[in-house]
Amino acid sequence: MPRMHPTLLSVCPISDFEDSSVDILIDPQTRQWNVEMVEGLFHEEEAELIKQIPLSSVASEDILYWPYSSNGVYSSKSGYQFLKMEEELMDRAHDSVVDDDSQVWKRLWSMNTPQKVKTLLWRACREALPTKCSLFRRKISEEDLCVRCRAATENSLHALWSCTELDLVWGDPELWSFRNEVQFLSFKELLSWIIKHTQLLELFAVTVWSIWNQRNRVRLNQPADAIHQIAYLSKKWLAEYQARQEKKSGIGVVIRDTRGLVIASCSKVVHQVLSVSDIEALAAAWALSFASDVGVRRAILEGDSLTVISDLREDGKVLALYGLLLEDVKVLSLHFEELRYSHTKREGNSLAHGLARYALSIPDLLVWMEDVPPQFYSVLQTDLPSFS
Ligand SMILES: [Zn+2]
Repeated sequence: MPRMHPTLLSVCPISDFEDSSVDILIDPQTRQWNVEMVEGLFHEEEAELIKQIPLSSVASEDILYWPYSSNGVYSSKSGYQFLKMEEELMDRAHDSVVDDDSQVWKRLWSMNTPQKVKTLLWRACREALPTKCSLFRRKISEEDLCVRCRAATENSLHALWSCTELDLVWGDPELWSFRNEVQFLSFKELLSWIIKHTQLLELFAVTVWSIWNQRNRVRLNQPADAIHQIAYLSKKWLAEYQARQEKKSGIGVVIRDTRGLVIASCSKVVHQVLSVSDIEALAAAWALSFASDVGVRRAILEGDSLTVISDLREDGKVLALYGLLLEDVKVLSLHFEELRYSHTKREGNSLAHGLARYALSIPDLLVWMEDVPPQFYSVLQTDLPSFS
């Protein structure tokens, strides 16, 4: 058909005509299209196209000509234009295939992640990221080798998933062991697989975003996360994002003795999004209640909000929103024989912060006696010097 796409008839009009050739549509006497027949056999649009094709007055042999130039002769310019157009049409056709697979697209756009993460994944699926492969194709780059390993073509799938340099990111065998077991041909295929077979879509998505962001920052000589931190940081980022969406805050408390040994620790989730001062005040109240429950009678309450700690040291009423919470603290303080308030810098308090973040991933409250969760053992050590 004299049109761009599809050039073939969508369906063969009538099965009896399957082996017929075009000449049955031409009146041999007048050398004109047999309009009745054309209109009877084809869809309206196709019939119109056929009727527009000029016919010679004498029957002649079939010839091949190039339909994408005005004179029927092939030129490299028209060839290039044709390929470009074909690519666009393929893209559109590809999109309609994906429509069949619309569950994947639907799931992608409904992910519980920031918008920029969704957009990045969508672009990766369409090979629309400026990977080396895509820059090479557009003649912007002279080669297509991966910027990390220099050993393979860098398309989306390689840059974000299969590059060996990313073993450190996708190394957790409890989450990503299928990376060594399942082969994917494209990023889109990988994404579909993850949607169908795992519950990891959101974590996968933010990790992919972090990998791409880290790659670009390194290339631009900007400060970037170390590659071995990406998995951990992505998990943390996702937990914090989702907690904000779910309107949650976390409290973490560590009780240590004078030598720095842990008496007890806890993580508690609060189903509200609170300001820093509010959460610090609430944490102070919770810490005193917790300490009193485990039998501590003399304590120093450390917090890293200078405002809250100074307010606790003052006797007067605080008119801020967290004033009522501070009243709670003062009532609870009566359970102690001795209680002092001390401001500590955030760095000296990283264990409590870790526990507060951890709280966002638990249903309610977790308590550890004479211990902290194993993932915080290293933090426990770094916090210790403040006790020497
Ligand atoms: Zn690589």
